[in-house]
Amino acid sequence: MSRTPLIAGNWKMNTTIEEAVSLIKTMQPGLEKLRGVEKVICPPFISLMAARAIIGGSTVKLGAQNVFYEEKGAFTGEVSPAMLAGLCDYVIIGHSERRQYFGETNEIIEKKIKAAVKVGLRPIFCVGETLEENEAGQTKEVLGRQLLASADRFYFLGGCVIAYEPVWAIGTGKSASGDDANKTIGFIRQFISKRHGNGIANTVRILYGGSVNAANIAEYMRKSDIDGALVGGASLRADEFLSIVKQASDIKGV
Ligand code: PEP
Repeated sequence: MSRTPLIAGNWKMNTTIEEAVSLIKTMQPGLEKLRGVEKVICPPFISLMAARAIIGGSTVKLGAQNVFYEEKGAFTGEVSPAMLAGLCDYVIIGHSERRQYFGETNEIIEKKIKAAVKVGLRPIFCVGETLEENEAGQTKEVLGRQLLASADRFYFLGGCVIAYEPVWAIGTGKSASGDDANKTIGFIRQFISKRHGNGIANTVRILYGGSVNAANIAEYMRKSDIDGALVGGASLRADEFLSIVKQASDIKGV
């Protein structure tokens, strides 16, 4: 079963509007030439409009880094799904930094996935274990809990993408080995298969995230169950991000 690989760049809280515009203008021509892989950039909210104007209807897709689950109202500082619909294609939901610093629970994340899918946004739903959980041998249990609580009814809707991001690998330079990442992603696929059948499990794209860069992307892309990457720090450097997408396209492009 062929799944179109996907490489998404999570810019986190980096770049002013001016810097974001400059970075997108630098990347856009190179990204546009790379085919067979879905390319997604996720700049900060404030730069989404400018990003959309530059990428227009090109093959580069746009993602938001977060969304609130209510439709509208007195929720100062929040951004609703309807505000992003039409502007973005994807939205990152459940990133470990949202869980860790902003108190997002599995239940909140479920509401966000449901609200995003309802307006046609495709969630990039993040799951992953902490270092303590990993060392205690609880990875599968934690992932199972996150999948069940937040996405049991939704991941097969609207082209939802899952990103396996071990928390200890995010922004640390300590990436999981290709074998370990593939094994854990294989477990996620099996988990989905048991609950929803092979058809869905073989269709859903599951990415690896955690200190991915141009030097290690090939190791992940060569693995059977890994369909791409969610890239943080390395997505802020045009050459590095282009190299990551190019290698993904060369190895697994459809
Ligand atoms: C991320 O932000 O999802 C991420 C994986 O970050 P980094 O690539 O910097 O580890």
